[in-house]
Amino acid sequence: QDSRKYTGIVEDCCCDYETVDAINGAVLHPLLQGLVTTPFFRYFKVKLWCDCPFWPDDGMCKLRDCSVCECPETEFPESFRRPPLGLAADDLKCQEGKPEAAVDRTLDSKVFRGWIEVDNPWTVDDETDNGEMTYVNLLLNPERFTGYTGPSARRIWDAIYSENCPKYASGEICQEKKVLYKLISGLHSSISIHIAADYLLDETKNQWGTNPDLMYDRVLQYPERVRNLYFTFLFVLRAVTKAKDYLEQAEYDTGNPEEDLKAQSLIRQLLYNPKLQAACPVPFDEAKLWKGQSGPELKQQIQKQFRNISALMDCVGCEKCRLWGKLQVLGLGTALKILFSVDGEYRQDQHLQLQRNEVIALVNLLNRLSESIKLVQEMSPTYEKTMKGL
Ligand code: FAD
Repeated sequence: QDSRKYTGIVEDCCCDYETVDAINGAVLHPLLQGLVTTPFFRYFKVKLWCDCPFWPDDGMCKLRDCSVCECPETEFPESFRRPPLGLAADDLKCQEGKPEAAVDRTLDSKVFRGWIEVDNPWTVDDETDNGEMTYVNLLLNPERFTGYTGPSARRIWDAIYSENCPKYASGEICQEKKVLYKLISGLHSSISIHIAADYLLDETKNQWGTNPDLMYDRVLQYPERVRNLYFTFLFVLRAVTKAKDYLEQAEYDTGNPEEDLKAQSLIRQLLYNPKLQAACPVPFDEAKLWKGQSGPELKQQIQKQFRNISALMDCVGCEKCRLWGKLQVLGLGTALKILFSVDGEYRQDQHLQLQRNEVIALVNLLNRLSESIKLVQEMSPTYEKTMKGL
């Protein structure tokens, strides 16, 4: 038997596992890693209040590694500075800020120029600018182990799976019904992989590193979870490439010409990549969905379920987990909006409108998934060998 468990075409997609690994490792991963460090893509606007509509008793996690380091006020242009919302200046200081994590502070008032504010029908958050929004530097707040676990975390995943995206029955042939479950399961796999890849190995020494056993226990030993990760990756990749005309023409101007040119060049290399186009021109074929008579009804039902999942993010009892949960759910919501709100390829006469924050979420989500795919690829053979050696 092949030492790799994953061969053939990714279920319901249009590319095979080997191609995804090859194109991700050689092209997508390096481009995305560069892209998410540019000023345009590293700041995310988010409402971090724990505003849970389902379990009002759920307090915020008090663990140190759960805290989000907000961007210092000085890092933002005058027009984006908010009244301190009753917080003392000290509270805004970076809790994790280390000198080596310092980033350039050359953003100016052009930072949000040219971007409209529109509602995303797939999520519940009101994304328009308001006093409750915080700007977070994602590079200072990596998605990693936070210690958030137990009934609070379990309750969220249970509610997501049992109420909002039930696992489809085996033998289910309706592809639409499978999509939401597979997307969420793929995202869940990715979150677990990042927890295991950046784990607090020794608390006393503050030593962080990979926990391969955890990665195996939570994801690698379940082929279905790995397959769903690949599915989610291809789904989001398809959304990004489908919106290529829009994304190419968008403004990436943050007032730092060198960095902005870099962002623009990397985005172009991602959207019009000859290697990607040759290897996997249509990563996922959304045109096959919603064709049947019940198509529109199913779409509405899935949209409602996805909105519920988005609302559940306000119940995540750990700030940093909530930040990445919200970002990635908005990223998935944006992918759904691109794939299911527009017929065929996006053209200028059609009405795809994306917010700056949606584009940031989409690209950062794709990067997270791309990192997870790379980690799975790197870790799987190690495990295959270990298992064979036993
Ligand atoms: P969990 O990951 O909680 O899984 C619960 C159950 O879901 C499992 O027992 C299994 O039955 C099922 N399941 C697990 N994986 C899959 C899958 N891929 N597909 C389908 N079903 C699956 N913790 C951190 O340390 N850092 C974070 O950044 C972080 N972010 C989070 C974001 C969100 C939105 C949520 C809800 C939780 C987050 N957590 C985070 C907590 C973390 O996801 C786990 O809940 C926690 O580590 C406890 O893990 P567990 O082993 O109990 O299983």
